[in-house]
Amino acid sequence: MSRRIGIMGGTFDPIHHGHLVAASEVQSRFDLDEVIFVPTGHPWQKSDREVSAAEDRYLMTVVATASNPRFSVSRVDIDRAGVTYTVDTLRDLRAKYPDDELFFITGADAMQQILSWRDADELFRLAHFVGVTRPGYHLEDTHLPSGSVSLIEVPAMAISSTDCRTRVADGEPVWYLVPDGVVQYISKRHLYVAGA
Ligand code: ATP
Ligand code: MG
Repeated sequence: MSRRIGIMGGTFDPIHHGHLVAASEVQSRFDLDEVIFVPTGHPWQKSDREVSAAEDRYLMTVVATASNPRFSVSRVDIDRAGVTYTVDTLRDLRAKYPDDELFFITGADAMQQILSWRDADELFRLAHFVGVTRPGYHLEDTHLPSGSVSLIEVPAMAISSTDCRTRVADGEPVWYLVPDGVVQYISKRHLYVAGA
């Protein structure tokens, strides 16, 4: 039987409660059987800053999602050499789940970028896109291919990975912005500490 699978791509440096609330909300609203979190390998958008090791981002994502029976984590992007493009992520998962319905979950900021990509047509053939609201960004409904994109409102969590990294570097707490296990993982691996 065909399953309904959500795909939540991200750098997850670190994963935070904004990601988890968005995934949980889409899981419930779209009655998804599973949501697969896919940490990027080398994200093409972020070549201007040092991204944490893929293995650290992968493990934080595992720690953050472990308690939810509908959440899982895929290594497809971190195990593929080179820069990560969403079209490759979707091709790989489409090949792995040929008979299932795929829903690619993305925040308003990332949605804007995807619409401008040159392979946008193929993306929309590979999966249904679910754009979720994100504080500080507007989901413009310009040129949305009809039928391939849904826009939904999720509880507003004004959290970003950038802010979490800055807080750690400044010695400020990230408790309750990220799951407890992720706070402990960041501290154990000395992530985001200036000069570390
Ligand atoms: P950074 O600040 O490093 O860019 P980020 O917080 O934007 O990190 P990403 O890993 O870049 O996190 O985001 C992965 C996906 O999650 C994107 O589609 C993004 O739009 C979405 N997302 C991130 N934070 C939120 C949030 N607070 N609410 C809703 N969606 C979010
Ligand atoms: Mg981002």
